[in-house]
Amino acid sequence: DRLIAAGEHEGESRVDYAIRPKRLAEYIGQARVREQLGIFISAARGRDESLDHTLIFGPPGLGKTTLANIISAEMGVGLKSTSGPVLERAGDLAAMLTNLQPGDVLFIDEIHRLSPVVEEILYPAMEDFQLDIVIGEGPAARSIKLDLPRFTLVGATTRAGLLTSPLRDRFGIVQRLEFYAIDELTEIVTRSARLLGVETDREGASEVARRSRGTPRIANRLLRRVRDFAEVRADGRIDADIADQALTMLHVDSHGLDHMDRRLLLAMIEKFEGGPVGVDSLSAAIGEERDTIEDVIEPYLIQQGLMMRTARGRVVTRQAWQHFGLVPHEQALD
Ligand code: ADP
Repeated sequence: DRLIAAGEHEGESRVDYAIRPKRLAEYIGQARVREQLGIFISAARGRDESLDHTLIFGPPGLGKTTLANIISAEMGVGLKSTSGPVLERAGDLAAMLTNLQPGDVLFIDEIHRLSPVVEEILYPAMEDFQLDIVIGEGPAARSIKLDLPRFTLVGATTRAGLLTSPLRDRFGIVQRLEFYAIDELTEIVTRSARLLGVETDREGASEVARRSRGTPRIANRLLRRVRDFAEVRADGRIDADIADQALTMLHVDSHGLDHMDRRLLLAMIEKFEGGPVGVDSLSAAIGEERDTIEDVIEPYLIQQGLMMRTARGRVVTRQAWQHFGLVPHEQALD
């Protein structure tokens, strides 16, 4: 597995359990989201209602699942989790819906990957808390309607643009998560280190934070690897120097880029003179799937100002050439 992949590594959720924030007050950063959700939750609680359906979008590892858990904790209700690809048939969703207790949060991760038949079931469930389902086939088929308890659907997706508009329109609350700033990530690393019983100083935490691609999941993972290094090669304390040595050994550079990022940027520079180049050509050039490039590699490189998406294709920026100690071809930057 790629060390700096923002997606979850196997078994990671178990180790992560201890450090996952449980309440809104422990959720670091995302100030706007925290403030707005705090208000919506208090208002719903004050009226003794369930929270409106909430859509959370943002790149992997930024805290969408964590927020769904926090919403259920703050509302004092249960949580049932599933994901778009898991709900294959209409009956799969019907089973989840009929199992809900009043007020429960139903969390659907990767909600953009719901199949159309499952999505059809979701519309009346979200809107009227009704289950409309056809049982049987052919002339014997019957449609039945069931009342569902009121519930809050929390949907998570990596890109809001992937949702169909009828689905998107049924969410009363839409929140977008942004990559975290270094000082926010430093706070997250410091908090996680405290919970894991690891000694770090501010500079050590900040070095891990700087190389974590704006992503808490990566920050926590790098912290665990740096802790290993600190315990074996030093006295277990993490300072800037130990963090730097450990991350350099793990091929995570000073920008938090790894070989995959470097391969993408260098392919654009060396094979396409900096671009513009279409994502399919890039995908062929580096042997990565288009989806991996768009969802996993590119967002951080774009956010860091190392490359851009333009109408004519992808282009690298001056900063990317400089990152590799290269001088840009002037026409490449026109
Ligand atoms: P997503 O669902 O967006 O992929 P998760 O909610 O699983 O991301 O978050 C990944 C991990 O990062 C969590 O388990 C948690 O430990 C940590 N994390 C996420 N957001 C925050 C935050 N705002 N403050 C502290 N830790 C966070």
